[in-house]
Amino acid sequence: MKNLPAFKTLLSQPKRVVITTHFKPDADALGSSLGLAGFLRKMNHQVSVITPSDYPDFLAWMPGNESVIALLKDDPKPEQKAAELIKNAELIFCLDFSNLGRINSLGEMIKKSGAVKILIDHHLEPEVFADFEQWNIASASTAGLIYELIDELGLRDLIDKEIATCLYSGLMTDTGGFRHNNTRHQEFLIASELVSRGAEPHNIAQHIYDTNSLERLRLIGYVLSNKLVVLPEYNTAYMTLSQDELKQHGAQTGDTEGLVNYGLSIKGVKMSVLMYDRKEEIKLSFRSLGDFSVNELARKHFEGGGHRNASGGSSKLSLEETLKKFLSVLPEYKSQLI
Ligand code: 5GP
Ligand code: MN
Repeated sequence: MKNLPAFKTLLSQPKRVVITTHFKPDADALGSSLGLAGFLRKMNHQVSVITPSDYPDFLAWMPGNESVIALLKDDPKPEQKAAELIKNAELIFCLDFSNLGRINSLGEMIKKSGAVKILIDHHLEPEVFADFEQWNIASASTAGLIYELIDELGLRDLIDKEIATCLYSGLMTDTGGFRHNNTRHQEFLIASELVSRGAEPHNIAQHIYDTNSLERLRLIGYVLSNKLVVLPEYNTAYMTLSQDELKQHGAQTGDTEGLVNYGLSIKGVKMSVLMYDRKEEIKLSFRSLGDFSVNELARKHFEGGGHRNASGGSSKLSLEETLKKFLSVLPEYKSQLI
């Protein structure tokens, strides 16, 4: 962090703190938020974690989960509580996203708030809104950035088993289990340190990867058998899922996570896309290999972004129209894909 001494001074007295992260938090979003919350609570700050939406059950085991305030579609109470907490906050941490547009109504509340804002993130092209930034696109995870910040503060010894568990979860998932090309030496050093402080890799992996419902496995089976399309002329794979298909399979929040990776696991495929109907919008998940930037494609055509090889976006068109649009932009990228 650039102005670390000023940040240290800020943390030297107990403060009212809000930590927030992106819509439909994944393990890095939630793990980095809960890890930071645990750390700041140990420094005697009063901390609330607010998420702009619900999140999957396979994340709800994380230490500190019970105190999370999650905004829900059909219950206005958490949003009222969040508004009050944000209004009274002295510090607001924004984790694992770089654009206030990604957190719905919370974005407006945060913009208006007079609190000191701290952005901690590893996505490309952040919006400038924070007073302090721990931003590094080379870092595989926001959880790793939280670890590094704690280390820069000279307070590594405050990392206990609970904090280590939350941070390791984010590090493990955002590197795809230490397999993606964002996994540097530094990720292993951080992982090693977190394990030495109590994180249990097998337990964490089991909680996150091996707690599928039968419905989720059947949904994966259905998509792989019936919905996965490969376009060899573009080295591209895509899958679509309608509301009806999701309903028929009893899909829950998070059940579509990871589906997009199956497309990329096909030999020769350079880009994989999943498009599914979230009712309020069509959500798109993009993955790519090597130099091909799905960040650029998602940003240019689907109001999204993320990382070069893993990005997301959205569309207000119907699912069919969204697919048509995607197919119509492919020729623009043909030379990069073949
Ligand atoms: P996923 O496909 O797993 O939802 O997201 C892949 C990556 O892209 C993640 O780093 C995620 O934070 C980012 N991402 C997902 N959706 C969006 C979006 O709508 N806008 C932006 N800017 N980034 C997104
Ligand atoms: Mn992340």
